Amino acid sequence: MSVAALIHQLASYLLKLIVDAFEAGDTESIPYIVALYPISYFLIQAIYRGAAFAIGKTCIGGKEHLYNQVTKYVLGHSHQYFSDRFAGSVMGKVSNATKAFESFVEYVLWNYLDSLVVLVSALIFVSLVSVHAGLVLLALVFILILFNYHLSKHAQRYAKISADAQSKQSGVLVDIISNANTVRQFKRLPQETETVSHVSKLARQAEIKTRFFGEWMLLGNALIITLSFGLIMWFLVQDWQAELITTGSIVFIIGLLMGMGYQLLFLGNAFVSGSEQFGQLKDSIAELLIPHSITDPETATLLTVPRGEIIWKDIAFEYGPNKVFSNFSLTIPPGQRIGIVGPSGSGKSTFVSLLLRQYDVTSGSISIDGQDIRNVTQDSLRENIAVVPQEPSLFHRTIRENITYGNPDATDEEVIAAAKKAEAHDFIDQLPLKYDTLVGERGVKLSGGQKQRVAIARAILKDAPILILDEATSALDSESEVAIQKALHILMEGKTVIAVAHRLSTLREMNRIIVLENGTITEDGTHQTLENQPGTYQRLWRHQAGGFVGE
Ligand code: ADP
Repeated sequence: MSVAALIHQLASYLLKLIVDAFEAGDTESIPYIVALYPISYFLIQAIYRGAAFAIGKTCIGGKEHLYNQVTKYVLGHSHQYFSDRFAGSVMGKVSNATKAFESFVEYVLWNYLDSLVVLVSALIFVSLVSVHAGLVLLALVFILILFNYHLSKHAQRYAKISADAQSKQSGVLVDIISNANTVRQFKRLPQETETVSHVSKLARQAEIKTRFFGEWMLLGNALIITLSFGLIMWFLVQDWQAELITTGSIVFIIGLLMGMGYQLLFLGNAFVSGSEQFGQLKDSIAELLIPHSITDPETATLLTVPRGEIIWKDIAFEYGPNKVFSNFSLTIPPGQRIGIVGPSGSGKSTFVSLLLRQYDVTSGSISIDGQDIRNVTQDSLRENIAVVPQEPSLFHRTIRENITYGNPDATDEEVIAAAKKAEAHDFIDQLPLKYDTLVGERGVKLSGGQKQRVAIARAILKDAPILILDEATSALDSESEVAIQKALHILMEGKTVIAVAHRLSTLREMNRIIVLENGTITEDGTHQTLENQPGTYQRLWRHQAGGFVGE
């Protein structure tokens, strides 16, 4: 690229030779010199195109590498990271970062490197012709750099405001689109449209401000360049009148100046765009690459679960100022099925999250078969725990892929056997493409009960020694209810089970029930014992309606 830029500059020298040849009436060499002009043009273009391809290829490869690496890193973030952010905005940041990387590298090479060669060579050539003109040009470059460097800070500020407004705009849109059904249900379309118009308006205003400032900067540059070029021309005319330089030399310099005009004018833009792209790259990367909050220690071992005993010892945990557990202890013997009930906000989900090490406890320890969960790899921890979540999340892939997610090597027979145990085979069999049916984004094409059964089949196939069951609070139709109970019964066999249970039918399957209130165990016993003793469980049990324990 530098070679091409240099030849480009030398092409202006051809102008000098041509004019001087004409002035001298040197008819013999004129055709040759003139022919050099198109040849050099093609040469320059050919070299530039080669450079462009090489740079493009490298940048595209770099973009791919970055995309993969950043995605891998981001997926290692904790539960908290994803709870605090919109999926759309995280995704947007990944693609922004990769795009900004590509454009930043290309920008630096095309604008900075290319401009540097053009400016330095022009300085040398102009100085060779006229020292005065060279000095003016040097001063011009310095003044422009200072002027633009100073203003680019403001321009960056505007650009940042504008970028923030745009990311807010897309965040709002993603939120509304993911809740499109709720919007329709509550007839809030006009209000949501209004919300979108409002953020769009802010984005537009910020963008226009950025543009306006940018154009003012360019106009300022143009003024400085005009004055300097005027001064250079004045010096050249003086020299020409004193017969120190030829007409061709003046044409040479004019050619150089014309060629530099673009670079000089957009020097400010180079600052602004370069630092804007760098800023964008830095911003997106910074947010994506914040340190992982939950990491494996270097000495982490692989969790082994021969028995399935879980011990909570003096646990304290809080979300910021919100204390959930203090001094919480609980021993779950191997193979026990423990049901957790309690009012909303009592800490049931947090209990489950801590066991999965989605958060680290503040003090105390949770251990499985004698191994502190902080001392084993997170992968091995999660490998040994199967979770049937409250709202099973399914990929927009086939049912088969969703079921085999925890065990990709499972054979078709194993998948079908698991689906049968999960009471899911019959409904899957009636789908148009059976196990190859796509489930729709997040599984929207399946009913709640069907999704639950796919999740149960997935857990059956994973066959982990510890099972966490987070029951959905919403009612299922009685057919699904019966099917799910049968499926769960099979799933729970021989495992240590922790169930956040809302259904009496599930609670009956448990051999121990604890009542959690404000992060404290207030009742602990079998269903029979607790049912017959006055207290929260008895009250919940008696208030039950249609098989549900009210929270
Ligand atoms: P339950 O599952 O019994 O409804 P949770 O474990 O969800 O209870 O919540 C226990 C307490 O912790 C509640 O006061 C809740 O507001 C708070 N809480 C839950 N999740 C978070 C979170 N991610 N950030 C801050 N506070 C939370």
